[in-house]
Amino acid sequence: MASILVVDDERIIREGCNRILAKLGYEVREAGSGEEGLNLLRAGPCDLLLLDLKMPGLSGMEVLQRVQQNHPSLLVVVITGYATVESAVEAMKAGAYDFIPKPFTPDQLRLVVHRALEKKALEMEAEGLRKEKERGLREIAGEKSKIRTIIHCMVDGVLVTDHEGQLVLHNPAAVRMLKMDGPPGFGLPIREALSREGLEAWVEKLYQVCEGKSPAVSQEIPIGGTTLMGHTAPVIGEEGEILGTVTVLRDIGLLKAMDRMKSDFVAMVSHELRAPLASVEQQLSVILAGILGEVNERQKEMMARAKERTHGLICLINDLLDLAKIEAGVVVQYRERLSIAEVLEKAVDILKGEAEVKNQTLHLSAPLSLPPVMADRRNMEEVFINLLSNAIKYTGEGGWVKVETRREGSYLCVQVEDNGIGIPPEDLPHIFDKFYRVKNAQTRRIVGTGLGLPIVKRIVEAHLGTVEVESRVGTGSKFRVYLPLDPFWKEGHEETVSAPDSGSPGGPS
Ligand code: ADP
Repeated sequence: MASILVVDDERIIREGCNRILAKLGYEVREAGSGEEGLNLLRAGPCDLLLLDLKMPGLSGMEVLQRVQQNHPSLLVVVITGYATVESAVEAMKAGAYDFIPKPFTPDQLRLVVHRALEKKALEMEAEGLRKEKERGLREIAGEKSKIRTIIHCMVDGVLVTDHEGQLVLHNPAAVRMLKMDGPPGFGLPIREALSREGLEAWVEKLYQVCEGKSPAVSQEIPIGGTTLMGHTAPVIGEEGEILGTVTVLRDIGLLKAMDRMKSDFVAMVSHELRAPLASVEQQLSVILAGILGEVNERQKEMMARAKERTHGLICLINDLLDLAKIEAGVVVQYRERLSIAEVLEKAVDILKGEAEVKNQTLHLSAPLSLPPVMADRRNMEEVFINLLSNAIKYTGEGGWVKVETRREGSYLCVQVEDNGIGIPPEDLPHIFDKFYRVKNAQTRRIVGTGLGLPIVKRIVEAHLGTVEVESRVGTGSKFRVYLPLDPFWKEGHEETVSAPDSGSPGGPS
């Protein structure tokens, strides 16, 4: 409850005020002179001061002045006995909140006190709100400057655009990485800010993200002897509208160089190993064939095992070599108009022996009338030999493997299906990773390197195609390869050269 100090030299007034106000629950203190009143204020604060203007000793006006100096937030209501309105006005000018003329009724006193305390409460509330707002603004300013500092100090480049592709934020790393002459102005269209040779394709992609024509994109940007990886993502508003884009740029030049060195190293080592191993395998074959003299059963068995292991090593080295070459981007692809049916026939021919050993049926449906693709023959043989040999390897005795082909829009789809062991769903997302092999009781005895599918994926993607898989444990697997058809081939006019077919209904996205 509020506390009130009554300063009046007339005891009867003081006591009257005390009685009325104490009944309302206020805590009331009394002082008979200005000096006493100031002492009481020094001893402890109060919410309202009822101050007589005309007192012997220190006058009410003098007390008011000192209160203004020392307790500026204290509300003062002056009591104007025998006084004129002028002295009340003077006191109000000097800072009093209100006045009450003597003599006054209890109701008048209650009203004045109530009004004054209400004002005080409102003032305090307003002050609280002001402080809260100030704190909020300070916090926001603090957050903003923190974010600015973080973005400014980041090693990665950051570019933010609005929905029209105008720059709204960039950091020094982005300016440096993109070899800009200086920090571009905010509000500048990014097309202008980045109008340098080699960046056009990436900038266009950025606009496509701005316009909602493309989801987030990641693109390698070769620039000034290094390579940047740019990840651009749309900023989506609450209603699903695109507010702008955020691009993060990272210099991956060093990573790429290391990757190249690693591939070169693998290629070199593999090459050095392959030749002697191939010769060991050959010599074992000669001995096993009995050309150098009779071999007893026990020797045969051991040598066959040694030959098998040697063969496994040669396969691993071949895969490593292929992968290293593909990763280094040095497969000089000789693209030609190619009939996939022919490639599939050859692959089936090579692998039919393996299927026979397991009593499997190997079925191929690939009409020679299928439209051709533009591809490297050896690459394609590698893709389908890998897929077929997996299908045979991961299918049990007496199972079947089917190869089917069909046209899907401007793509050719080749499906290699088996009724083998299938792939557990948790392994499916990883089977195209290098060296990944499904490890369970069924695969334990099957030899492999975990490099076949990564090679397939890289070759297919290098031909602008895609590969996908569907599989169920215990039922079998379906691998589908989509390859773009030769765009210059037209049915019935095989040698006619015309504009590329751009539509791809039903093809991979
Ligand atoms: P690997 O040399 O081990 O066969 P791949 O890269 O060709 O390596 O395949 C990766 C893994 O995917 C294999 O280890 C196998 O577990 C699984 N896999 C591939 N093809 C099939 C298939 N047709 N059926 C079942 N599992 C398969």
